[in-house]
Amino acid sequence: MARFEYAPAPESRAVVSLRSSYGLFIDGAFVEPVDGGSFNTISPATEEVLAEVALAGAGDVERAVAAARRAQREVWAPMPGAERGKYLFRVARIIQERARELAVLESLDNGKPIRESRDVDVPLAAAHFFYYAGWADKLDYAGFGPAPRPLGVAGQIIPWNFPLLMAAWKLAPALATGSTCVLKPAETTPLSALLLAEIFQQAELPPGVVNILTGDGATGAALVARRDLDKVAFTGSTEVGKAIQRELAGTRTRLSLELGGKAANIVFEDAPLSQAIEGIVNGIFFNQGHVCCAGSRLLVQESVAEGVLDALKERLGTLRLGDPLDKNTDIGAINSGRQLDKIVELAASGEREGAERWSPSCAIPERGYWFPPTIFTGVAPSQRIAREEIFGPVLSVLTFRTPDEAVQKANNTTYGLSAGVWTEKGSRILWMADRLRAGVVWANTFNRFDPTSPFGGYRESGFGREGGRHGLEEYLDA
Ligand code: NAP
Ligand code: MG
Repeated sequence: MARFEYAPAPESRAVVSLRSSYGLFIDGAFVEPVDGGSFNTISPATEEVLAEVALAGAGDVERAVAAARRAQREVWAPMPGAERGKYLFRVARIIQERARELAVLESLDNGKPIRESRDVDVPLAAAHFFYYAGWADKLDYAGFGPAPRPLGVAGQIIPWNFPLLMAAWKLAPALATGSTCVLKPAETTPLSALLLAEIFQQAELPPGVVNILTGDGATGAALVARRDLDKVAFTGSTEVGKAIQRELAGTRTRLSLELGGKAANIVFEDAPLSQAIEGIVNGIFFNQGHVCCAGSRLLVQESVAEGVLDALKERLGTLRLGDPLDKNTDIGAINSGRQLDKIVELAASGEREGAERWSPSCAIPERGYWFPPTIFTGVAPSQRIAREEIFGPVLSVLTFRTPDEAVQKANNTTYGLSAGVWTEKGSRILWMADRLRAGVVWANTFNRFDPTSPFGGYRESGFGREGGRHGLEEYLDA
């Protein structure tokens, strides 16, 4: 394979003006916390402190929920849908106008390659606002009854892997219905949500319609502990999701959970192989594998396993790991030291339990948190690396002989978020899709997202759907 040398091609940081400290966004203004403290957010690629951010306590949660409640009753719900839609269109257009700034900030705070934040996270975030803006004046025709009412006030807790995109997934459908929001971003990635707050100010979104409370797990817990929210929407770990479900059991608060996954990416012998190789790489190495629907288990038909693995290793040798702001970077930094420790520990368990570990030779920067793209072969279904979500750039490879065996192995997991099928036969795709217990099944592609398409899980991957017409239902009192 031809190899080309690359010159550094860093995106300029000058487009982002970081403040030294950030307050909470409550009732349309940035304010100091009443009873919280502050914390630093860093760039995981360099460990440089980017900014000091306010940590919201229970008193701040109280203020934010009160602001959201008042805005919902007095301004947002009574407003005609067409008018609400105009605000959402305006937000979508400003996201597009400020796309470079958002992409650079996201890559700085999260560690993901600029190529991904620029081409995936930011355009998809804008697309979600555009899509739900279009629904705001058509709710009567959405199939939820003649005049569905907004649910009310939603508490929304999001993770660090797609900070801006997860904010858009949560906020856009809620706002379209006339509901209002209190959003809690993850501790390690608060900055793009705060820039989104500035965008809401720029769009003159009425105060209180969206409130953003930066903080840690305790801030999220304080939000859930209030019994006066109409809805809690959570994306994150299965462990915290279960705790939230226990907390809300027996209350009138509606809940949706989008949790982890251990998806099978299934390659049949008749698949277009070079396309499948790209799909396997995109499935597990996109966003350093910090993806709940990542194709972290490759199931490859035995007859082609050797050829697929050779081609895959060859392809991994061309991936570039390093500076997230470099436009040629494929693999960025691991989001935090804590997440890196978890990946290191699980990878070590793979070796201990007898799987064979392989990584391309690749230079690891001295500072920051990094993990090379890694493949495990000879993986047995009982091993931890075949069962537990690693949430890192680590692929576990298993083989199968028949379609039945592929289905059985793919479904041999406590999760059920996504799956991928690679074959040239349409009938086989449909046969497999009928049998795979996963919320999303991709055929001859992977990790493809669209605002019109519902997304969500089965079993320990959670419940409820985000995206599409289905995503509206979560925020309607229908
Ligand atoms: P996490 O603890 O579940 O965090 C998700 C969000 O919940 C964050 O905003 C977090 O705040 C908040 N939170 C933490 N404890 C809470 C509580 N008791 N009540 C309410 N909210 C709470 O996930 P994580 O620790 O970042 O990641 C751990 C594992 O979760 C990963 O290794 C991965 O397996 C999985 N994960 C899945 C997804 C997904 O998209 N499904 C995303 C991220 C992680 P802080 O960030 O401030 O703690
Ligand atoms: Mg950070």
